Amino acid sequence: MGKVTGFMEFERLEEGYKPVPERVKHYKEFVIGLTEEQSKVQAARCMDCGTPFCNNGCPVNNIIPDFNNLVFEGDWRNAITVLHSTNNFPEFTGRICPAPCEAACTLNVNDDAVGIKSIEHAIIDRAWNEGWVQPQPPRHKTGKKVAVVGSGPAGLAAAQQLARVGHDVTVFEKNDRVGGLLRYGIPDFKMEKTHIDRRVEQMEAEGVTFRTGVMVGQLPEGSKVTNWAKETISPEQLRSEFDAVLLCGGAEQSRDLPVPGRDLDGVHFAMEFLPMQNKVNAGDKLKGQIRADGKHVIVIGGGDTGSDCVGTSNRHGAASVTQFEVMPQPPEQENKPLVWPYWPLKLRTSSSHEEGCQREFAISTKEFIGKNGKVTGLKTVHVEMKDGKLVEIPGTEKEYQADLVLLAMGFVSPVASVLDAFGIDKDGRGNARATTDFTGGYVTNVNKVFAAGDIRRGQSLVVWAIREGRQAARAVDEFLMGHSDLPR
Ligand SMILES: Cc1cc2nc3c(=O)[nH]c(=O)nc-3n(C[C@H](O)[C@H](O)[C@H](O)COP(=O)(O)OP(=O)(O)OC[C@H]3O[C@@H](n4cnc5c(N)ncnc54)[C@H](O)[C@@H]3O)c2cc1C
Ligand code: SF4
Repeated sequence: MGKVTGFMEFERLEEGYKPVPERVKHYKEFVIGLTEEQSKVQAARCMDCGTPFCNNGCPVNNIIPDFNNLVFEGDWRNAITVLHSTNNFPEFTGRICPAPCEAACTLNVNDDAVGIKSIEHAIIDRAWNEGWVQPQPPRHKTGKKVAVVGSGPAGLAAAQQLARVGHDVTVFEKNDRVGGLLRYGIPDFKMEKTHIDRRVEQMEAEGVTFRTGVMVGQLPEGSKVTNWAKETISPEQLRSEFDAVLLCGGAEQSRDLPVPGRDLDGVHFAMEFLPMQNKVNAGDKLKGQIRADGKHVIVIGGGDTGSDCVGTSNRHGAASVTQFEVMPQPPEQENKPLVWPYWPLKLRTSSSHEEGCQREFAISTKEFIGKNGKVTGLKTVHVEMKDGKLVEIPGTEKEYQADLVLLAMGFVSPVASVLDAFGIDKDGRGNARATTDFTGGYVTNVNKVFAAGDIRRGQSLVVWAIREGRQAARAVDEFLMGHSDLPR
């Protein structure tokens, strides 16, 4: 424990943001990280609890009290070793994780949690700057070949773990760049893509082969799922050429809103809109980019994806941005004794909301209206919860003007055709069926085919994908070698 009385002496210090008028002019990150001295003060607030709830609240079980203490001691080199022992990519989570560890921190019972995420962010950025993040190629090769399908955080974490124990790993990705939703979902202003590029370089030096633009199986006709594949490989070919196959294809099937007028021009899935801007930021020339310039934008869906649409629309120069959430507005402050150490339901105002957004709660869209085939607005009604169901409130019907409507209502499941082509059993929600058991976990009903990340658990978080990728790597290693030294 760094400073016995630290939690009584020091206030929680938040990372800063660059001012709104400045940051909406570009797509670069705008978070101002803690300085070395500020990180030390923040770490001094940690009580090194006998039962560190933070460690349990963190899906990768980061050893938080230990790295807090090391930062307090100024031993940043060992801090990154501790952090990397549980998390392959702390620069991703240090930027975009909602930090369930902080919700679980003991200090959060009656005070402000330790700023764990800001400390993680500071440790990994310093480690990259100091040149401490280096490839770790294996000492021996096993001669076993593993195919990983999908290059999101689950696929990347699994591939890195498997390559480091000597397997020949090939990652297949249908899109033209590596990263999954980190690359083509999460906007650059939340996480710049150079963070992925340098990990790809590290992993190539560790022996991982990346094959982008290669689709495994096929998408259904007319699918709106992102796909820049130039080549196709069949599941049979993959299974015959590799000793194990790990599916990390995510849960890409967007939830639709099949109300009258859905086919009007100007009504799009968030995942048609967001990837295009990331491509443009990467220097690609796009024909027909969906843009919000000068438009009245309505984002349907109050979650993270919706918030990313808000931030991107404001950067395009939208005339107005309104976000709808069907659920009632949650309380500003959670009832801590009731919910701690779990993730609390409370009103969350993201940096994108702060940049300009009208938020409407308990609102449902009944119809899109349009003229000459183009959307001009939508008809709504307010709803309330009655006997566990959302019901319409008579007399609250209203019309909103809209030139662009973005559907950000989450994702229903992985693309069924890919799982079907492998013959993989699905659970009740359409995800690949596989348990997370210590022995025999992550394996599907198909011989030598495993599944991890959103494709197995449904749309979730980057940190959960990293956990599943790491655990699945151990399961694959055990399957290939009969035992595994990889951590779980
Ligand atoms: C807009 C948006 C914002 C988000 N923001 C956050 C956030 O701030 N913080 C957070 O923690 N989480 C966030 N999430 C959720 C998070 O991104 C996902 O939970 C996470 O990326 C899942 O990782 P994954 O590796 O399982 O799958 P994905 O990241 O979805 O990657 C799957 C990859 O597999 C590829 N693929 C699929 N099928 C095939 C195939 N048949 N052949 C070849 N390639 C294939 C896909 O092209 C994709 O690149 C966000 C999600 C979205 C959509
Ligand atoms: S729960 Fe909070 S105070 Fe306790 S060890 Fe974890 S970070 Fe430190």
